Amino acid sequence: MAIQANDVTLKSWVEVPAHSDFPIQNLPFGIFSDGGDGRVGVAIGDHVLDLSLLAEVGMFDDLDIPDLSVFYESTLNAFIGLGKATTSSVRNRISQLLQHGNATLSGHEIRQQALIDRKDLKMLMPVKVGDYTDFYSSKEHATNVGTMFRDPENALLPNWTHLPVAYHGRASSIIVSGVPIHRPHGQSKPPEAEQPVFGPTRRLDFELEMAFITGKSTELGTAISTADAEDYIFGFVMFNDWSARDIQAWEYVPLGPFLAKNFASSISPWVVTLDALEPFRIAGPVQDPPVLPYLQISGKRNFDIHLEAAIQPENTTATTVCRTNFRHMYWSINQQLAHHTVNGCNINIGDMYASGTISGSGEEAYGSMLELSWKGTKPLTMADGSDRSFIEDGDVVIFSGYAQHENIRIGFGDLKTKVLPAL
Ligand code: CA
Repeated sequence: MAIQANDVTLKSWVEVPAHSDFPIQNLPFGIFSDGGDGRVGVAIGDHVLDLSLLAEVGMFDDLDIPDLSVFYESTLNAFIGLGKATTSSVRNRISQLLQHGNATLSGHEIRQQALIDRKDLKMLMPVKVGDYTDFYSSKEHATNVGTMFRDPENALLPNWTHLPVAYHGRASSIIVSGVPIHRPHGQSKPPEAEQPVFGPTRRLDFELEMAFITGKSTELGTAISTADAEDYIFGFVMFNDWSARDIQAWEYVPLGPFLAKNFASSISPWVVTLDALEPFRIAGPVQDPPVLPYLQISGKRNFDIHLEAAIQPENTTATTVCRTNFRHMYWSINQQLAHHTVNGCNINIGDMYASGTISGSGEEAYGSMLELSWKGTKPLTMADGSDRSFIEDGDVVIFSGYAQHENIRIGFGDLKTKVLPAL
């Protein structure tokens, strides 16, 4: 059934600037603060709609929500835990309230108070992340990394085309856009050195990824099929999996990333729902060899989402260094979640699952500096004339992403993180 809130002909009485990431067809959920505790809001144009006020005056009363306190929480966990039928009905209700010609909210006395200019607000972490997993699902990225670090003839390891490779990451250091990070210290072993050295990383990198958030939990011992996976997925954020390449190269054998990754991962503050992305479904790459039955999918399971990364050195303009697309993912979200749980691993509301670096086939579509500068051998030139092989102190790394059809742009807003010198 078509989702009413996605109707491209809808217009809002709230002014939405051209090319805004947040037209009435998007309505992503987030947690905002106007100085006090976080509350649940929805983005529309340059504004945030305060859902706690809408709840207070009864605008969700007929939606069968057992406890309206979910709109006053400082995370989305309780709200998304209501289940997709309910969260979708809330999104549809907000769409109705914001539609041109509907006076329920536009003519209500709370209108001024409920609609807040985004520039007057601070966005907080949208969810409390219980567990975080990072996949490695872009064939182009895995091939590039395998070529650089192992063997160009056998860039992909034998398991890669048979299962979505991943590791369990660190949830405590996931931070929201706007929170700066310090260059991390760690142990590395330069190729020419006989002994490892300790100090600030010299190869700080970003990884351009998307992440989905689960809105439903399972019991230990339960598996989720590829067909059912989307019932468990609430929505997406953009995800920067900060990486220290010199630390990573020394520590990762044999168990994978540890301190090279767990110092920070940054996310965009607005959770764009799977509902809003429905019009942008697209078939993923053909999988050859065929996958095992528990990983088989039917229909369009990838999403056409344009993604960019830019570097803004201190006191100057930003330079876009990467243009790629989420549609390139070899392994779909359905396959990722089915594989993750096929052994009975239980999942929880608010868990986060990152895609892995999303690289496309052209050099401009590589989703990390490791690939863009090819291990530092091909530095990029910034707009101010400086060179970058990796990320320097003072740089702001900016991700943006959106899906677009018929002039409707379903975007994620900016994900910006400044890198400060090592402590
Ligand atoms: Ca990653």
